[in-house]
Amino acid sequence: MVYQKIDLDQLGAEAALLTPTYASRSLTSGIPKYELPEESVSPQIAYNLIRDELGLDGNSRLNLATFVTTWMEPEARQLMTETFDKNLIDKDEYPQTAAIELRCVNILARLWNAPESETATGCSTIGSSEAAMLGGMALKWNWRKRRQAQGKPADKPNLVMGINVQVCWEKFCRYWEVEPRFVPLEGNRFHLSAEEAVKRIDENTIGVIAIMGSTFDGSYEPVKAINDALEHLNGETGWEVPLHIDGASGGFIAPFLDPQLEWDFRLKWVKSINASGHKYGLVYPGVGWIIWRSREELPEELIFHCNYLGGDLPNFALNFSRPGNQVIAQYYNFLRLGRQGYRQIQQACRDTAMYLAREIAQMGCFELLTDGSDIPVFAWKLRDDFADQNQFTLFDLADKLRERGWLVPAYAMPKNREDLVVQRVVVKEGFSRDMADMLLEDLRRAVAFFEAQPHYRAKSSGSHFHH
Ligand SMILES: *Cc1c(COP(=O)(O)O)cnc(C)c1O
Repeated sequence: MVYQKIDLDQLGAEAALLTPTYASRSLTSGIPKYELPEESVSPQIAYNLIRDELGLDGNSRLNLATFVTTWMEPEARQLMTETFDKNLIDKDEYPQTAAIELRCVNILARLWNAPESETATGCSTIGSSEAAMLGGMALKWNWRKRRQAQGKPADKPNLVMGINVQVCWEKFCRYWEVEPRFVPLEGNRFHLSAEEAVKRIDENTIGVIAIMGSTFDGSYEPVKAINDALEHLNGETGWEVPLHIDGASGGFIAPFLDPQLEWDFRLKWVKSINASGHKYGLVYPGVGWIIWRSREELPEELIFHCNYLGGDLPNFALNFSRPGNQVIAQYYNFLRLGRQGYRQIQQACRDTAMYLAREIAQMGCFELLTDGSDIPVFAWKLRDDFADQNQFTLFDLADKLRERGWLVPAYAMPKNREDLVVQRVVVKEGFSRDMADMLLEDLRRAVAFFEAQPHYRAKSSGSHFHH
């Protein structure tokens, strides 16, 4: 008789293959989380472990808190997957990726009405925050040059903006040592006004930030009025205080839905604009853009010319290596959608936002701050008489909605309206009218739940902690 010699290693490998996935040792015991494990696991096991853990995250499609894209077409996903390996900075090795970035810069400069006679000047970034750093630096450098040319001190720069700015502008001021001059909210004014901005400007003001689409309530700030006030002030004083537009969301909304609205380079004092490609530019995170009105608004000293891997590489960025596939996906959207496609998508978002806002206003206990007619974002508060009854707060409502998976944040407004608590919805591509109706159903159910328990608040107060 001939015995076949059994290869034990072979047997082990076979057993591993035949073991039902979730019966394997790696999936029936804990895993090391805070130190590098000694041994490897199979790709299948690593995949399952991590994917399952992420099941505890919120569902991004029910995330009405975020401005960031949560849905792209399968072809866009595929293109992004195929181009994960391209490093955007290697312009010499990936010249077509570089050419595509340059096309996007040209497309945006035109979309925002930069003078045709000028060279399109700008770059992609990792998001609006990096774009804000670059835009703010250009403001600071230009101001300093103006001051030095006049033989005046340039050691106390300040930046004027509404208190409702996104945190990136506070970061800019802290990191680059610029005094932030915030205009507080007042009464029913929830963003910057020309009058209040002008009051805080002096010869040390490097610029004014105006937001197209305040994150707190989705409203456009009055850019034209601020521009006109600057025209007057600069004419009287000889200062040259410029305007930077934070169009993180609105930079991709206003050109398609409000073409008559003047907020961009059509206005004389608008020198630079940023936008988030990963918000209403409709790309997955993270890509942002900044465009200057003309070449001369971007100080040459800020540009690094690296002789890198065989080419001259003009570079203005905080990062070096970055994924190229997000820029490629941005160009995919430009090519695939065109003006018509962007207009249709943004209009559908606005229609859904305004529909939701109307329905919420009709529920009786809420009052709108905004109705979704600027960017497709709106906010509401509890009606004062309902707030007085103290049956429930918007924080309670946010918690209740979360039971169903909806992420609809509640928060207090900034200074001087910290007393005002609001709730906000951001409508994005992928949020259908049908989903909006489901949200409305759940809102009505939640309100009915609170109304059926008049003592809910008294019981639960103290057990909830909210910022
Ligand atoms: C989201 C946002 C930012 C920050 O943008 P990121 O792309 O997330 O870095 C800045 N300003 C405004 C108005 C925003 O809405």
